[in-house]
Amino acid sequence: MTLEQKKEIKEKVAESWGEVTAVGAKKAFEGLEAITDAENFAAAKEAAVVERKTITNWKALYDAGLKPTYIQCDGYLPMHPYNEGCHSAMHLDPYQLMDHVDKGHGGGFLMSFKLNYRTGGSEVNIGKPWEGWKKFEEAGAELRDFRCDICNEEVKLTARSILRHIKPHTGKSSRLNKGGDFRITLGREALIDNDEEE
Ligand SMILES: [Zn+2]
Ligand SMILES: [Zn+2]
Repeated sequence: MTLEQKKEIKEKVAESWGEVTAVGAKKAFEGLEAITDAENFAAAKEAAVVERKTITNWKALYDAGLKPTYIQCDGYLPMHPYNEGCHSAMHLDPYQLMDHVDKGHGGGFLMSFKLNYRTGGSEVNIGKPWEGWKKFEEAGAELRDFRCDICNEEVKLTARSILRHIKPHTGKSSRLNKGGDFRITLGREALIDNDEEE
């Protein structure tokens, strides 16, 4: 059943019931409403996935207002027990990154959002959505793993989760560290469904 069909049924029910005031009738109507809402929600979610070219919701990174400043081809544990990364600094170009992945470098990358990453800067490049995230979707890139390089935690692909790891927080060494560096693994096929809301 499509979303439109469901809407039609809902409208017909509303018409025939008119203004629902009797307690029993209202209860019955509420039950129908709840089922329809749940189904509608599922249908809407399905439609959103179909509209997207990738399973990965790259929009979350767009919404977080972050732009990468430095990307380096590098494997990491536990995703890359054998590091096929070549340690090259990459262009901020999703098509080139995916080309690199296709040529067998393992798909692991260090991705920093810090301005002046290489000179030890800690200020994060935030506040302006980066159009480049849309190109990840266009290029058919799936995010197979996404984790914070400061605390090593896997990061959910929602703007809120990402931004939590941008703030200073306790790192692997139990010292307070400035956030903003991440480890990602790109591939042609998704490994995780990171779409759920918190
Ligand atoms: Zn490489
Ligand atoms: Zn973290």
